[in-house]
Amino acid sequence: MPIRYVRYTLLTIVVGLVVWLALGYGARSFEAFCPFGGAESLWGLLTAGQFSCALGPLNLSLFIGVIVLALIAKKVFCSWACPIGFFGELLGKLGAKLTKGKLVPGERLDRTLRLLRYVVLVVSLYYTYKLGELVLRGYDPFYLIFSGFGHGTVGWISYTVLVILILGGLAIPMFFCRYLCPLGAVFDPFSRLGLIKLQRNTETCTACGHCQLACPHNIPVHALAQIRNRDCTNCLECVEVCPEKDVLTLRAGV
Ligand code: SF4
Ligand code: SF4
Repeated sequence: MPIRYVRYTLLTIVVGLVVWLALGYGARSFEAFCPFGGAESLWGLLTAGQFSCALGPLNLSLFIGVIVLALIAKKVFCSWACPIGFFGELLGKLGAKLTKGKLVPGERLDRTLRLLRYVVLVVSLYYTYKLGELVLRGYDPFYLIFSGFGHGTVGWISYTVLVILILGGLAIPMFFCRYLCPLGAVFDPFSRLGLIKLQRNTETCTACGHCQLACPHNIPVHALAQIRNRDCTNCLECVEVCPEKDVLTLRAGV
């Protein structure tokens, strides 16, 4: 069975679980399972000595868990367990079909825009510290979608933000993850160190470039011997499309 089906099955189960919690069937709110809430929890604990509103030890444990996971296998959480990463990927594929190709900004612009996720991270931590409130809720696609624009959303601004994120996701693959996700920013240094990463056999690779075309993050796999790139989520899309046998393999190593 293609790896993608296994991954999509897992992601569908995660989305189902979050919807189940969001509908109020579980003992906890769906927000308790957001690892970025863990970053805010930790920040709240360090700066104010208490958890920020609606967050708690479960968020913190998840956050620590995904950091450890990033040290082991890079941003694997993003492509194997994150509902927003899943939506981003599906939107990107739909957008590519509609536009007959992937729209990717030039390298310089892309690199500059990627800095925005650090800005979002700093702003969210600053306001968590200042107000003890999750002020970014009204702009957070995870919260907006699964809460059904619940408490903390900011009227038409929240709707506009979600529409912009959807249009952005159709136009540029992984738009939110790439440019705006604060959790992605937290993961970056850990992901660079990630132990399990893809290796390319430079002897047998034909440099056809199919791998980069399939990569949701546009990583130039065909030009690298080892995929250390911080944005690699070990989704294995590149492995799936590679026409040569055993050119791309997952290996553990520094
Ligand atoms: S798809 Fe496979 S053979 Fe083609 S460039 Fe990428 S790694 Fe090399
Ligand atoms: S390099 Fe391969 S495994 Fe990494 S994100 Fe791109 S397609 Fe996925």
